[in-house]
Amino acid sequence: MSVDKPIKLAVIGRGLIGSAAARHLSKMGHDVALIGPDEPADFARHGGVFGSHYDEGRITRRYDPQAFWRQMNRAAIARYDEIAAESGVEFYREAGALHIGHRETTDVASVGEVCRDEGITCEAYQDAGLAERFPYLKSTTGMLGYFEPRDAGYISPRRLVRAQTIAAERAGARIINEPALGISESASGVTIRTAAGNVEAARVLVAAGGHTQSLLGRSLGFTVYGRTVALFRLSAAEVQRLAGMPSMRCLGPKGDNPYILPPIPYPDGQTWLKLGGDPVDRALESEADIKDWFRSGGSVDMADRLQTQILDRIRDLNFEERRVVPCMTTFGASGLPSIGPLSERVTVAFGCYGKSAKCSDELGRLGGMALLGEVRTELAP
Ligand SMILES: Cc1cc2nc3c(=O)[nH]c(=O)nc-3n(C[C@H](O)[C@H](O)[C@H](O)COP(=O)(O)OP(=O)(O)OC[C@H]3O[C@@H](n4cnc5c(N)ncnc54)[C@H](O)[C@@H]3O)c2cc1C
Repeated sequence: MSVDKPIKLAVIGRGLIGSAAARHLSKMGHDVALIGPDEPADFARHGGVFGSHYDEGRITRRYDPQAFWRQMNRAAIARYDEIAAESGVEFYREAGALHIGHRETTDVASVGEVCRDEGITCEAYQDAGLAERFPYLKSTTGMLGYFEPRDAGYISPRRLVRAQTIAAERAGARIINEPALGISESASGVTIRTAAGNVEAARVLVAAGGHTQSLLGRSLGFTVYGRTVALFRLSAAEVQRLAGMPSMRCLGPKGDNPYILPPIPYPDGQTWLKLGGDPVDRALESEADIKDWFRSGGSVDMADRLQTQILDRIRDLNFEERRVVPCMTTFGASGLPSIGPLSERVTVAFGCYGKSAKCSDELGRLGGMALLGEVRTELAP
């Protein structure tokens, strides 16, 4: 699928969406510079930018209540094997995904309806049937669960960024391991300033996650929220007891609707069970707020509440250590990401709603296409 006239393109943000865009554009034959720093080694001492993919577990599934996101999920999941093959990096485990809630007080039944209408394979369980299928659940009385056994489970966002970056590089992209310090646009091109020198390009795609609006120096109507994740280190026996656990979405009122990842091996050689789902939103209003939030290490109060929630849901959970980790998400009013041009040479791709890891390859592809002039109007900023 190579192009006749390669264009000199830059992508700012070596996160999930930016690295995906760089892979797609490089494979099309364009001359791509992918600009963005590695994960900070020490959050507390880091003076630069942060990202939302510094982890080993993000839920993946085909189901979403909105048609747009279902389309994104389906397209991206269909390319997981391709990305792994092009990079040699595995990042996906098909552990399945369970959507679970009280029959009477949540709209969990709608998950089953959507899956049926959309041809998403899913199995229904309730009460004793749920307890039998997922024996580590603490309480199943009055509960209904829909389990997606295929094209669902979790991905490692860290490994996916690595895979996309390697695949982009193999397709010819140049990786610049630096933050962009500024963008200036002229009649002839764009100049991206970095500490390692300027990068000149004909066009630039800005996919800098929660930092996108501050880098551009303007609001696109999105709010950045601080998020806290709690991780629980498990013994070998506990890992064995929970073997076969899927990713879980617990439906309920805000504050009592956590998402839970199954036990996952982390780079420290230990296995951790993770959950999140902040009961309270914390808006990060500025670049300084974002940096302060990450440096703070997250909210211990929020982690305490998450701990109560996991103990309420997993029977006899026994953990050896708890860790608290900060993250951030971006939300807009439309429920859709912002992917489209801001000017002749500057295009944006961001707006994650806390659910864009699984489908980042398709969002990145759409960002790349928008940079080349093919824009989906409903996503245009
Ligand atoms: C706690 C938490 C749990 C989540 N769980 C899920 C889940 O279960 N399933 C799911 O699908 N999604 C989940 N998400 C969402 C997912 O992680 C995000 O949607 C995804 O990371 C967004 O990708 P992105 O490329 O927009 O941003 P990021 O992945 O944050 O990438 C942005 C990149 O831009 C870089 N950058 C910033 N400023 C600059 C600059 N000036 N110059 C150069 N580079 C810059 C950063 O370093 C970063 O690498 C979760 C998010 C959080 C916070």
